[in-house]
Amino acid sequence: MAGIYLHIPFCKKACHYCDFHFSTSLHYKDQLLEAMHREIELRAGLLPEVHTIYFGGGTPSLLTDAELSTLLQSLNKHFKLANDVQVTLEANPDDLNFDRLMALKAIGIQRLSIGIQSFHNEDLIWMNRSHQAKQALQCIEDAVEIGFDELNIDLIFGYPLLSDEKWTSNIQQALSLPIQHLSCYSMTVEDRTALSYQIKKGQTAAMEDGQAARQYLMLMEAMEAAGWEHYEISNYCKPGFQSRHNTSYWQSEAYLGIGPSAHGYLNPERYWNIANNAKYMESLLAGNLAEEREYLSEDDQYNEYLMTRLRTSAGITKADLEKRFGSDAWPLLLSELELYRSELGSEAVASAFSLTESTLSLTRAGKLLADSHIAALFRA
Ligand code: SF4
Repeated sequence: MAGIYLHIPFCKKACHYCDFHFSTSLHYKDQLLEAMHREIELRAGLLPEVHTIYFGGGTPSLLTDAELSTLLQSLNKHFKLANDVQVTLEANPDDLNFDRLMALKAIGIQRLSIGIQSFHNEDLIWMNRSHQAKQALQCIEDAVEIGFDELNIDLIFGYPLLSDEKWTSNIQQALSLPIQHLSCYSMTVEDRTALSYQIKKGQTAAMEDGQAARQYLMLMEAMEAAGWEHYEISNYCKPGFQSRHNTSYWQSEAYLGIGPSAHGYLNPERYWNIANNAKYMESLLAGNLAEEREYLSEDDQYNEYLMTRLRTSAGITKADLEKRFGSDAWPLLLSELELYRSELGSEAVASAFSLTESTLSLTRAGKLLADSHIAALFRA
């Protein structure tokens, strides 16, 4: 299930919390797209077959239908696309009116991932989002009418304006919509963002200790009660609607990243493109990739496997671990777990991990501190 990710590094406005790579200046968009076409040519054929294409960003819905279509044609020309290749577009609600959605469907976009974040206008204003709550509801109604049958929405929790009552209403609103997939993220305060500056200056409240964990638990309970699968730490779906693209990352499949700041993985190497639009264009338009590359040692591959697999509900199975890393990999993992028990205490580890004779996964409590629990099992 190899995939290609295209990073479109433009946004209408800078959301206050966001540290992704993007620019709010679109005046060199044509050259940047030209550079992305050059990168597609330079990476031509690096995957035997492509099963998923994902336009992310930034805000890919800022591109015109013709620009998106031309990128798809370029991928089609330079790669073998599977007959059932799935094409996903990240989009913001203010870019999605009825006619636009019709046009996106016509050029081959099958799945939409819509950045809604909250159904409360005061929260959207605080985040500096470019849309209003009613646009979010309208675009979903329109998308369903037009025939999009795979819709994801993103929501954020854990920020000062979001009371538990508002968070419950956001979850219930999401559950009432004809969507198949929900991604939810805890707000984090990243360096060099407007949010970080505002908190330092006392212009907005800091994140409250415990709020994100509490709201994550509320989310897990509500989604489980509604019968959704919590198949990855931040992702929920109705049965059969896991994100094909993200699942391929979590299964350590090869993928290519195209565009500034995009990452790629071709075992045993990964690369990341420069996160600077001007330098990316300069390099690609001169015919050179603008990437750094890293060789993954067996320990790196093992640690990455642990980090991605343990974030999924399926976790690690003994059979798969041994197939990838040898017959002693399972007993070695158990000995790392034993060491962690001696550091953290048996009860704490038992509440974080669910261990059977042939599987290891995180419990609901374990998911609250997933990264640190998983990193404790890494090979040095
Ligand atoms: S639209 Fe998305 S990528 Fe752009 S600033 Fe907002 S959160 Fe970041």
